[in-house]
Amino acid sequence: MGLNNDKATRHLSSLEKEYENYLEYPLNLNITRGIPSEEQLQLSQEMLGMLNDPEDFLSKNKMDIRNYGELTGIIEAKELFSAILGSESRETIIGGNSSLSLMYFVLTTKLFMGSVPWKTKSPIKFLCPSPGYDRHFSMTEKLGIEMIPIEMDENGPNMDQVERLVLQDQTIKGIWCVPNYSNPTGIIYSDEVVNRLAKMKTSATDFIIMWDNAYAVHHLTQENKVAKNILTACKEAGNSERPWMFCSTSKITFPGAGVSAVAASEKNITMLANELSYQTIGHDKLNQMRHVKFLKNTNQLKKHMEKHALILKPKFDLIQKKLNERFNESNLLTWTNPKGGYFVHLTTMDGCATEIVESLDRIGVKVTKAGATYPSGNNPRDNSIRLAPTSVELADLEQAMDVIGLCIEMISLREGNK
Ligand code: PLP
Repeated sequence: MGLNNDKATRHLSSLEKEYENYLEYPLNLNITRGIPSEEQLQLSQEMLGMLNDPEDFLSKNKMDIRNYGELTGIIEAKELFSAILGSESRETIIGGNSSLSLMYFVLTTKLFMGSVPWKTKSPIKFLCPSPGYDRHFSMTEKLGIEMIPIEMDENGPNMDQVERLVLQDQTIKGIWCVPNYSNPTGIIYSDEVVNRLAKMKTSATDFIIMWDNAYAVHHLTQENKVAKNILTACKEAGNSERPWMFCSTSKITFPGAGVSAVAASEKNITMLANELSYQTIGHDKLNQMRHVKFLKNTNQLKKHMEKHALILKPKFDLIQKKLNERFNESNLLTWTNPKGGYFVHLTTMDGCATEIVESLDRIGVKVTKAGATYPSGNNPRDNSIRLAPTSVELADLEQAMDVIGLCIEMISLREGNK
């Protein structure tokens, strides 16, 4: 697209003038962090006062939860989290406050333990559907695992690409998946994608699926659609040992003091519990009980998540309104309209995302680094920006969206004019 007329040139210079004004009077806004707002944290405040009576410290099997024991979690927590993950209690281990550390634990166990530790053979590779979650990729890189980017579309990873690679290369040992309201594109894996992941033939006999269900219950609408259960699908396909499913209450109660869980086949869980026994005698059972008393069951959890949605929906709606106003008829930008999760993803013209994010930074608006959602931060098309609106006030978000729109338009028009 070229600037071949006066009108377009005048439009670009008026955008540049507007931008110069912001350079002189910068803003101070940060929409980089996918974290709950204070108002959301407040929704779970009463949970902190829930253990008062002597019987509150006794689990169903009369275990005093203030004491050592229950390595894999209290029965009540296993019931609650297995209902969230779609597993049986005996297929579930309750962790500490972070599901990421459970993911790290599973990967290090695969790398260094077992009858044939991955590390004894190198290289080891992982499929990384991109854009994806930056911390999955930095963990993979840190552990010395090579990353292979896989395209994402509205149904999940490009399965033709996945099936071809896993069949031909036995050093590919796994794939990262965020099946519900994927970080950052907000999509839900289709049934077809889940079935193909469960059934596909892999050259590596110990291939695993890291199924990070961080946004399993984080709906913004009444649709409440979720991806098919990968553990069930894998069992049906005769690949029960393939999936590892994770979740946590980081964005249900408190990221700083939540509870996490991992589920897999009984065989895998028995193996992981054995490895865990060398690290700890048990995680924080008082916090597990607080969560059980507060969230109770999936019905109560749903009601609690509706309160989160009431706070979050206006922010996501505002982003749609602002982008529609500016880019509805434009070919400069496409964006996602997620029905849950924590992010909106923008696809800019190729080669523009870094410059847009840097120009925003110069006028005091911090947005996640362009490319951060790609393995090693490298997006060859430089066209991806992640917006994380949850923790910002609505008024600040409105201001941020105005300048985000301004910078996208200004940089893209300049690029088109080159
Ligand atoms: N997985 C995904 C996809 C996330 O987006 C996040 C946080 O943003 C996490 C995991 C972090 O989970 P936790 O707080 O349980 O470690």
